[in-house]
Amino acid sequence: MDQAAIERLKERLLSKCVEKPGPLDTPCLEFMGGRNWYGYGHIWINGGMQRTHRVSYELFIGPIPTGLWVLHLCDNVSCIRPDHLFIGDAQTNMDDKMAKGRHRCTPSPGEKNGNATLSERDAAEIKFLALEDQLTESEIAQMYSVSQSAIKHIKYGHNWSHVTPIAPLLPTPTLTASMIRRI
Ligand SMILES: [Zn+2]
Repeated sequence: MDQAAIERLKERLLSKCVEKPGPLDTPCLEFMGGRNWYGYGHIWINGGMQRTHRVSYELFIGPIPTGLWVLHLCDNVSCIRPDHLFIGDAQTNMDDKMAKGRHRCTPSPGEKNGNATLSERDAAEIKFLALEDQLTESEIAQMYSVSQSAIKHIKYGHNWSHVTPIAPLLPTPTLTASMIRRI
């Protein structure tokens, strides 16, 4: 992407943002365009859908090291303000969630159920991936060795409805580098 294209993209991104007061000293810059179920903004770039907080990081701060995540200091996933973003890995994300009290540690009815073949953790990850819409249901089914209908049931809350979606801890080897980038 040449410099002019980068500037156009910055403008395009910022034109869809509004400032909102957040928990930090500086206001959040919320992306008001397309958002996914969780509130993460997304934007189409060169025919592909990219998450706006990652795009913002790359445009205003620099490249995201392979396999690492862009996380929010402000805990507002719609926010793309560069100084509210930081780089971390899956563990950082978990620690951050724990610290902010967003992670549920209570035992679940699903796992105690004798019919359960998935762990609570698996179900939470499947829910995350299914709702994230980056992988197909059949790809997720393969990753967890379950049927596609099991994925659908989790996705639509017929099973494991009490589970809070959790991002998978590690990128699985079945994912290609470009898929990991998108995640
Ligand atoms: Zn923010």
